[in-house]
Amino acid sequence: MSYNITFIPGDGVGPEVTEATRRVLEATGVSFNWDIGTIGEAAQEQYGTLLPGSVLESIRKNRVALKGPVTTPVGSGFRSVNVALRKALGLYACLRPCKTYTGVPSPFKDVDIVVVRENMEDLYSGIEFEKATPDTARLMEFIQQATGEGILSDSGISIKAISETRSQNIIRFAFEYAREYHRRKITAVHKANIMKYSDGLFLSVAREIAAEYSDVEFEDRIVDNMAMQLVQKPRQYDVPVTPNLYGDILSDLCAGLVGGLGMAPGANLGDDIAVFEATHGSAPKNAGMNKVNPMAMMLSGVMMLHHLGENEAADRMETAIAAVITEGKNVTYDLKPDAPENAVGTSQVADAVIEKLRG
Ligand code: NAD
Repeated sequence: MSYNITFIPGDGVGPEVTEATRRVLEATGVSFNWDIGTIGEAAQEQYGTLLPGSVLESIRKNRVALKGPVTTPVGSGFRSVNVALRKALGLYACLRPCKTYTGVPSPFKDVDIVVVRENMEDLYSGIEFEKATPDTARLMEFIQQATGEGILSDSGISIKAISETRSQNIIRFAFEYAREYHRRKITAVHKANIMKYSDGLFLSVAREIAAEYSDVEFEDRIVDNMAMQLVQKPRQYDVPVTPNLYGDILSDLCAGLVGGLGMAPGANLGDDIAVFEATHGSAPKNAGMNKVNPMAMMLSGVMMLHHLGENEAADRMETAIAAVITEGKNVTYDLKPDAPENAVGTSQVADAVIEKLRG
């Protein structure tokens, strides 16, 4: 059997890390038909839109995509083509595993955390009011009347909305994920002590749903305390579930615990569509240099194999990546902070992982 996968190379370092990943995925022996799609600035030039409908159609048809990072053009068009893609496909859950592999430069050992981040609302909804516009003035007037609280007239305003519906979706997703992947504990992350109606709602939904899953441990943490605890005692945490913004910040923090962005894979998931992509961006300054670490993208490929039910191939691919890291010879500069001159390039890492797979 051959899997139809929408393959989006992206831009910046995207084409290099996705190509390295495609080669390794094929070396597992699993068969793929890659349906190549272009989004972002290249699509704007070619098709006059940042997010062509044909790419969305391809993902809807195949239900699975492997995506490289895409630069967000400053100025016109969508706020972010990545956010637009997630919204268009209803990818409400962002999964970001952070795991230490032996040999990765990190002061921590045995970290194995999967951040589950809400992907659709919170301060990322893009509902914003610019300083000194008539709409902003009207909103300020309403807020003054409704609450008696004044906002300084030279303020910009971003709206943070957290709904019961989307909180239920993401928290249920986290518990179902914990069950399926045999994880032990969910930690709901919030700032409910200050934002009682948004984060408070998220927390109360989390408590309600937790009561339905007595087989999975549940706790909650205030986000600032969580940031400190993740650095001090990362092994205490298993599956933090968060609103959008906290998840973005804490998943980068967790990436820092396990060797950096070059080691942080991810997936954006809806009810029946999954887009696998690394946490990192397009790193434009390194584009075309055969330099950055493809392992974050490769580990996203491992997640994709699990999603497809190819668990044996996924395990072999992860073992091969781990072996290359432990050996420490064929790794990129970020995994060799003390001797970057001995680092290899993106494509050599792929060669080394393929050799282990065949070995
Ligand atoms: P970035 O992740 O591209 O880079 C941050 C730092 O991490 C840089 O120093 C970079 O060199 C390093 N880095 C990134 N990936 C690495 C890898 N695989 N190996 C080793 N080092 C790596 O973040 P940024 O500079 O804030 O963003 C650049 C562009 O990417 C922006 O246009 C942003 O909007 C976009 N972006 C896209 C996505 C996505 O497509 N999902 C995600 C984040 C950012």
